[in-house]
Parts: sequence; C-alpha cells; structure tokens
Amino acid sequence: MRVTTGSTDRVTDYATRFAAFLDAEVAPLEAELAARDAGTAWNPRLDEAGRMHPAVWEARREVQRRAAAADLYAPHVPSGGGFTRAEMQHVEEYVYRHAGLGLGLAALAWTEGPNPAIEHCSDAAREQWLDPLLAGEITAAFANTEVHVGTDVLGMETRARRDGSDWILDGTKAWITNAHFCDVVQITAVTDPGAGTRSLSMFLVDARAPGFTRGRDIPTMLDDGLTGELHLEGVRVPAEDVVGEPGDGFALAMAWINWRRLCRGGMCAGWGSWLLDRALERAQRRTSGGSPIAELQAVQHMLADMDADVYTARAASLQAQAELDALPGGAFGMPLDPAAPRLMSLVKVINDEAFLRVADRAVQVHGGTGLRKGSPEEKLYRIARNLKIPAGTVEIQRNAIARGLLRGAR
Ligand SMILES: Cc1cc2nc3c(=O)[nH]c(=O)nc-3n(C[C@H](O)[C@H](O)[C@H](O)COP(=O)(O)OP(=O)(O)OC[C@H]3O[C@@H](n4cnc5c(N)ncnc54)[C@H](O)[C@@H]3O)c2cc1C
Repeated sequence: MRVTTGSTDRVTDYATRFAAFLDAEVAPLEAELAARDAGTAWNPRLDEAGRMHPAVWEARREVQRRAAAADLYAPHVPSGGGFTRAEMQHVEEYVYRHAGLGLGLAALAWTEGPNPAIEHCSDAAREQWLDPLLAGEITAAFANTEVHVGTDVLGMETRARRDGSDWILDGTKAWITNAHFCDVVQITAVTDPGAGTRSLSMFLVDARAPGFTRGRDIPTMLDDGLTGELHLEGVRVPAEDVVGEPGDGFALAMAWINWRRLCRGGMCAGWGSWLLDRALERAQRRTSGGSPIAELQAVQHMLADMDADVYTARAASLQAQAELDALPGGAFGMPLDPAAPRLMSLVKVINDEAFLRVADRAVQVHGGTGLRKGSPEEKLYRIARNLKIPAGTVEIQRNAIARGLLRGAR
C-alpha cells in the first residue's frame, strides 16, 4: 500500500469522484470523438491553418463544462476548491496517472482555466471573466512572451498607455497556448518604462475587442495546434480589466508562471507512473529468446531507473510544495516570500529532467513500438522534451535556485 504524504480526505474524495467522472462522462465523449475523423484529445488532427481540429476542441470544452458542474475543474484556486499545493500535487498525480493522454485530462483546468493570477481581478472582472472561467463556460490564455522576448520578460515591447480611465494596448504576443480559441487573454504590457519589476501591468483583454486579432499557428513538436500569435492594435481596455494594480504585472505574471512550475510535480509523477505501469506490462509480455524481456537485467535496470526517478521527483516535489504551503503568503503571495522562488524552481527543474529520463527509458523498453507515431511513449517523450522550456527554462530555474541559496533561503 502506498503511504500518501500530505494527502487529505478531500483529495481522496476528489479522486473517487474523478474516477467515476471518467467512466460516466468522459468515456462516452471519447467514444463519440473516436467516431469522428478528428484524431484524439492529445493526437488531434489539425485544420488547414495548423490549429487543433474543432471537434477535438469542442470535446475538450464539453469535458471542461461537465467537470465544472461536477466540481472537479478548479480545485487549485481559492475561488474554486481552495486546495493546498500539497493536496494539488496528489490531485494532479491522480488525474495524470488515470487519464493518461485521454480526454479526461481536460477535466482539471490547465492553462485555459482559472489561475492564481486572475484571482486578483476587480469585482466587475470577476463577474465578467473569472466566474465564467470557473464554470468552464469560457477559456483564457496567458500572453507574456513575444517574438524577440521569452526569458527576458522585462524586455517586452507590448505597450499600454492611459486614455482617460481606459488603457490602449499595442503589440504582438507569440508562443501563446490557446491563442486560437481563448475568449479572454491575460496580457502583460509595459505601462511604466524603466521601472524594472514595476514596469509591467496585467490586463484582461476581450478576444472580441476591436483591434485584437489572432495570428498564425506556431507549430511545435507537440503537434497539438494550440500555440499561436496574438496581435493588438489600439485595443481599448477598461480600468476594471486591469488585474491588481498598475505595476503589478511582473508579480502577477510570476504567479501564473510559478503555478505552472508547481504543476510539474503531480504531472510528472502521474504520467511517470503511467509510463512505468505500461513499461512493466510490456516487459512481462514481450519475449526475446523465448522469455519475457522483464527477465533480462538490462531491461530490469531501465525499469528500476524509471522507478527511482519517479519516486525521487515525487518525494522532492511533495516536500517543496508542503514547505510553500507553510509560508505566510503560500506559493502565490504578493509580495512573494523570499524563500518561495528556490522551492518552485526546484520542483520544475527536478521534474522536467527526471521526466525526460523516464520518457526516454519508456520508449527504450518498448523498442520500435515506443517510437511508433501516436503511441503514448512517443507522444510523452515529445511532451517531456518540451517541458524543459515553457514556464521558464531549466537554466532559469538554476539561476533562481542559486540566487535563493546565495541569499540564504534554505
Ligand atoms: C509549447 C509552448 C507553449 C508556450 N506557451 C506560452 C504561453 O501560453 N504564454 C506565454 O507567455 N509564453 C508561452 N511560451 C513561451 C515560453 O514561456 C518561452 O519559450 C520560454 O520562456 C523561453 O523563452 P524563449 O523561447 O524566448 O527562449 P530564450 O529566452 O531565447 O532562451 C534561449 C536559451 O538561452 C537561455 N537563457 C536566456 N536567458 C538566460 C539567462 N538570463 N540565464 C541563463 N540562460 C538564459 C535559455 O535558458 C535557453 O536555453 C510557450 C512556449 C512553448 C514552446
């Protein structure tokens, strides 16, 4: 029996309800999607413009709406379930392990849903944007990156200037997940040039606003048709759609990004365990020289190394998330506790690198089958390679860890 450090009754309750939801709600939708010639949730066909096939997007949307109605969609934000980060690691691990690469993954809000940064919005914006996001009625995107600026966030060129009580936004964002489908975008823009970490503000931009246009798809090795460009030409944003205060944009962007960093803990433990389950099953079924390859020491060592990586990354992440929960402002406090960045970066770098090794070994145990396009091993290997870049590269995590150490945050 597995001892689940830091788990609680509401985690158990979530897992029980999620398992029932997969059977009752997701399985029929997955069968309906399979009958269309649209691909699957995580290997979708793409349209002529390279975007996710609309039938796959709509199936995911339906799962999101049903999950919200079943109170499964937003356990991670205060306006939703208000779970701690340690609880969320257990929830995320359960979801990723049991949904695998299926439609069920959409049941737990990903970057298209509510997030810790948008919780700082005004009452008017809560009614217009946050409540519908919590209900799965609309989807969001987070737009920080630009063509010339990724890591170097403070070098961004998108500008917002005041016009009466409104703001006018101009610029182009690139590499934005859910650029093609989002209803609202959390955009960071320069409002006070030269003010360093106070130079940016975050705006909620209505995707129907005049001057807002969706640009080209940016095809990546994920092949999911979800990443693209967004253009803003004189887009007018009312004062109530500034998130937090003007000047809070950098801190709010970091809250969003740090949330994604922490989600690596449960994601990699869940998918890592799923890959290990599949590798164990394959090794016992596949034979070489008349015996299962599981009897070969070379294969046993790969299985053992997968277990070691999943186990250590999972344990380290649970410890870090529990430490973050214990900080006065938690993981997303504003201002952020000085001890927090090192812990969040540890979670990201440990999981990104461990999971890439796990996915690599999973492919190797499966032999040629693991390389077959569309197999879970091949897809997760590509996802694993991707993880080392978005939400801050692994190099940037090392910068933050070293900065924390040198400031005595240990
Ligand atoms: C699939 C995908 C989805 C994405 N989704 C979003 C999204 O929804 N919203 C969004 O805003 N962005 C998104 N991004 C962008 C992503 O956050 C950036 O790609 C990432 O932050 C890295 O920036 P970059 O690509 O410009 O790399 P660069 O900043 O050009 O980095 C290139 C290399 O230089 C290194 N480097 C750069 N600066 C430093 C430094 N100071 N110290 C040490 N090393 C350094 C990097 O570690 C890296 O190895 C997405 C990207 C991808 C691939």
